[in-house]
Amino acid sequence: MNQKGNMVDEQEGVHGLILSQLSDDICVVPLKGFKMDLSANRNFNKLFFKIGCNCGTAGLLSVEIAVDKTMEDINKALPALVSRIEAQARSFSRMNCEDHKMLRLGKVKNNEKETS
Ligand SMILES: [Zn+2]
Repeated sequence: MNQKGNMVDEQEGVHGLILSQLSDDICVVPLKGFKMDLSANRNFNKLFFKIGCNCGTAGLLSVEIAVDKTMEDINKALPALVSRIEAQARSFSRMNCEDHKMLRLGKVKNNEKETS
C-alpha cells in the first residue's frame, strides 16, 4: 500500500482508471508528479499521459478534472476522459514522423532527453 496519503494517490487512481479503459491499440504511460499550478486554471487538476513513437518523439496528452470532483464524479465522467485521451493519442499516431520532428522542435518541451 502506498502511504503518501495526499491527492497524489487520488491522481494515480484516476490514471489507473483511465488506463484500464483505454482501447488496446492505445499505448500511453501515465506521467506523475506534475505540479498542478502548471495549469492556468487553478480549479482544474491536469492529468498527463505520455505517448511515444518509434522515431523517439514523445507526445504529451492531458485531461483536466475539476478539483472539486469526487472519485464518484470522476467514475461517471470516465468515458469522456478516456475518449479525450484516445483522441489525442490517435491524432499523435496519425501524424507521420516528419510531423513528430516538428513537434519535438516546437512545443514538446519536457524533460525527455534530446537524442538529436
Ligand atoms: Zn514518429
